[in-house]
Amino acid sequence: MSESYDYDLFVIGGGSGGVRAARRAAMLGRKVAIAEEFRYGGTCVIRGCVPKKLFVYASQFPEHFEDSAGYGWTVGATSFDWPTLIAAKDKEIDRLESAYRTNVAKAGAEILNTRAVIEAPHRIRLLDTGRVVSAERILVAVGGQPNVHPGFDGVEHCITSNEAFHLERLPKAIVILGGGYIAVEFANIFHGLGVETTLVYRGQEILQGFDDDLREALHQAMEAKGLRVHCCDTVAEVSKSADGRLSVRLKSDEILVADEVMLAIGRRANTVGLGCEAAGIELDERGGIVVDEYSQTTSDHVWAVGDVTNRVQLTPVAIHEAMCFVETVFRNNPTKPDHETIATAVFSQPEIGTVGLTEREAGQRFPELEIYRTSFRPMKHVLAGRQERVLMKLVVDAASRRVLGAHILGPDAGEMSQLLGIAVKAALTKDDFDRTMAVHPTMAEELVTMYEPSYRVTNGEKRDG
Ligand code: NDP
Repeated sequence: MSESYDYDLFVIGGGSGGVRAARRAAMLGRKVAIAEEFRYGGTCVIRGCVPKKLFVYASQFPEHFEDSAGYGWTVGATSFDWPTLIAAKDKEIDRLESAYRTNVAKAGAEILNTRAVIEAPHRIRLLDTGRVVSAERILVAVGGQPNVHPGFDGVEHCITSNEAFHLERLPKAIVILGGGYIAVEFANIFHGLGVETTLVYRGQEILQGFDDDLREALHQAMEAKGLRVHCCDTVAEVSKSADGRLSVRLKSDEILVADEVMLAIGRRANTVGLGCEAAGIELDERGGIVVDEYSQTTSDHVWAVGDVTNRVQLTPVAIHEAMCFVETVFRNNPTKPDHETIATAVFSQPEIGTVGLTEREAGQRFPELEIYRTSFRPMKHVLAGRQERVLMKLVVDAASRRVLGAHILGPDAGEMSQLLGIAVKAALTKDDFDRTMAVHPTMAEELVTMYEPSYRVTNGEKRDG
């Protein structure tokens, strides 16, 4: 380290990306400080992936109770207590936050509990004390926050996912605006917990960017459960009635009555008031930090990783970017983060697990595709009397036989997509899938037993197999 700096690395933001970078750099013997203004763990641990998944588990029990009857069980009267779930969730989040702090401390980085802003190149002000410190390098990993500006009257009555994790009471009815990951996941959570739920989405079909078959099949499955999915519409106005309930007027003029209206309309980077201009850090039109392929900003000593860069807003991506940053900067081994072929899951009910190109995307890039598609009732649902079906689909380039995409809707689809992610990332061919022995009896065995294409796609046009 140059003698003139207090730190080799100053990390702003104690979420998935920041913590990983701080730990790795400190373990390499660098003098590192990390500042976090709220709680260590960031969006994922504190008010995102982790508490969301706990809510998903909670919301699945009514179906488990129902299904058990077909297997001979009689489940007595059941009831659900929201405060118990919130308290249990908070306890687990406290545990995880403490583990994050311990790991950073063990690695030898200094933990600061304050908002930090960039004051000048290499200089950071700690807002709790006003102290100014210097660092040879700065990593910005401050994440993002929910968008709250949809431009209608009454937006002040609405909540976002942040508040959804701490509601005092479970609402009787909720309207959720948006059709992406968060809207779809929370719609299923609230419905599963017994809340009368309406999802309002401006586009033709929920989950833009996912394979069309999955989007439609999930939409149908959600409606079959009793969840209302209202596409091609949006919220025009929210007003509070005398009884405290909310009246939601849609653009179509339909009026919905709800106890909460949740906005899940994307997230924006936390760059306001961060001091980016002071260090010559350029922002994009949405306020995200512009970075090059090594996560370096337009300032030669500042890097940025994770959601603040508006690349791919996913926890494992932020962690990967952080590891590449440390490898590049502190191990003298230039390493670009790889954003290609990222497997992902939507924890809807049923779940989506997906990796690689959708049929539509592949049809635009490859002249001839083979589509292998199957839809079936999983064995567990048969005795349970549940009609819900699993959908599995492989998108294959006919010329090279390479599996370009794999898409699943059904129980444990997320778990399956992690493993399929390896196969698709490794550019395995359909023949590799075919010569893989099935694991029987499982749902996943269908992925290696679809021998004939269901249909072909030529120059983007579907035709019979
Ligand atoms: P998404 O980008 O997934 O979806 C945003 C949704 O809001 C889209 O349906 C979009 O519509 C809609 N929208 C945007 N602006 C408006 C507006 N002004 N009025 C009405 N609708 C609007 O964002 P989310 O907020 O759901 O999630 C943020 C990110 O967090 C995701 O992109 C994902 O990367 C990550 N995440 C990942 C999860 C996982 O891995 N399971 C879970 C939760 C979040 P349109 O499609 O028409 O643009």
